[in-house]
Amino acid sequence: MPSQRVYREADEGPQEADLERFGGETRPCPRCGRDIYDEAEWCHACGHVMSDATDKKVPAWVVVTAATAAAAFIFVMLLR
Ligand SMILES: [Zn+2]
Repeated sequence: MPSQRVYREADEGPQEADLERFGGETRPCPRCGRDIYDEAEWCHACGHVMSDATDKKVPAWVVVTAATAAAAFIFVMLLR
């Protein structure tokens, strides 16, 4: 794929393309302001612990799956 090769030559080092690829998985540290991974439990730069990371890192599909499983469980129990 020639186009991919050209793209790689132009893309050297971490740039906006990488940020787009990981779309929204980084956020600024509330303490030092550096961009850290959203799933990180603490800031690698200053050591600030992300107390609310546990709530934010749960993906939507996990919530949907859990809700579906709970609904199915209740449905099955009602049928018995
Ligand atoms: Zn920090």
